Amino acid sequence: MCPDKNARPNETAYNIVKSSQLEFLLSISVSDLGMRHWLGYEADMTKRISFFIAGTEGRARTGVISTPRGDIRTPAFMPVGTAATVKAMLPENVRATGADILLGNTYHLMLRPTAERIDRLGGLHKFMNWQAPILTDSGGFQVMSLASLRKMSEEGVRFKSHIDGSAHHLTPERSMEIQRLLGSDIVMAFDECTPFPADEATARASMELSMRWAQRSRDAFGDRPGHALFGIQQGSIYRDQRQESAEKLREIGFDGYAVGGLAVGEGQEQMFSVLDYAPEMLPAEKPRYLMGVGKPDDIVGAVERGIDMMDCVLPSRSGRTGQAFTRRGVVNIKNARHQDDPRPLDEECECPTCREYSRAYLHHVFRTGEIIASMLMTWHNLHYYQELMAGLRQAIVEGRLANFVADFHETRAEGDIEPL
Ligand SMILES: [Zn+2]
Repeated sequence: MCPDKNARPNETAYNIVKSSQLEFLLSISVSDLGMRHWLGYEADMTKRISFFIAGTEGRARTGVISTPRGDIRTPAFMPVGTAATVKAMLPENVRATGADILLGNTYHLMLRPTAERIDRLGGLHKFMNWQAPILTDSGGFQVMSLASLRKMSEEGVRFKSHIDGSAHHLTPERSMEIQRLLGSDIVMAFDECTPFPADEATARASMELSMRWAQRSRDAFGDRPGHALFGIQQGSIYRDQRQESAEKLREIGFDGYAVGGLAVGEGQEQMFSVLDYAPEMLPAEKPRYLMGVGKPDDIVGAVERGIDMMDCVLPSRSGRTGQAFTRRGVVNIKNARHQDDPRPLDEECECPTCREYSRAYLHHVFRTGEIIASMLMTWHNLHYYQELMAGLRQAIVEGRLANFVADFHETRAEGDIEPL
């Protein structure tokens, strides 16, 4: 699938697009971009982060977020590099799949190796050899899901590390400090991810606390050219609370906005029903980020509803458990049907796994617990996700998103190729 170089933004585009930006937006492989001088690379961090929208179709948008460390094509999928690595992948290989930005986890990094150590060693980009942009979460979500002996207060959350039991106090101010020490390009405000389900009163108390923490995050972040701070909308499944939260965040003013409190067990139908109104409550001219999503069909549905950025551990984690995402749905490589199959996971996929290795080989190395199984499966999955994003971007620019989405669902419904 080669992008049409003569493609022009559709008529609804409301920004003037430079041809070089459009070419970048429509490029699929980035192996020739940005990998030149990663060691010793110095970004000009005085440049402000900006967002331009190249095209829209319905509620969907495509564009580029420009940062001193490189441009991010949207809609963007961010692979998760939890502990300063996308598991089983070299950073340059992650980049080659088409990823413009990674997500790092504040909670994990603050405990090990600690933000202070990463800072002493030159920041997270240098530490993990990833010179493109990095977004870090605030740590709040994982404190609630991983840490023990948590105690919430107006001030923040006290907890014990799940690794060694050491005591920590995470507050909006401390979260901003950690994300600054890491050198994160896009910093997330400290919030409480409202659990699901939550009754109206519980959701409201949680949302209001998050809005007070959003203000404290903004105050603590200060003015840092080259870096962006995103606010996070809460309000669970209650439309009026989502609206109130959006208004409060607008009033405080952020560089981008996340729709928080979704992908926490509410199911796709309920998530989409919130996404039918929540993103549009946020400023149209700023990037909108849906945290922790998702499966390929979640991503397509979120993009249709106006989301610009997403992250999920799914492609990498599933790769390590033997699940491959393909155009035709999920393939379980551990299944015995693959053991004599010389065909690739996906005949149309151009990733190194599909070009060079058979299902039979992947089945064998997975069954025998070889490390290469995780490497090859993760590579394919990340490639598949990035190719999906590239397809969505191009379809929006060309004004044929509806057809793209129909094809996407149709091919998946056909299911995997017949066994030999
Ligand atoms: Zn592949």
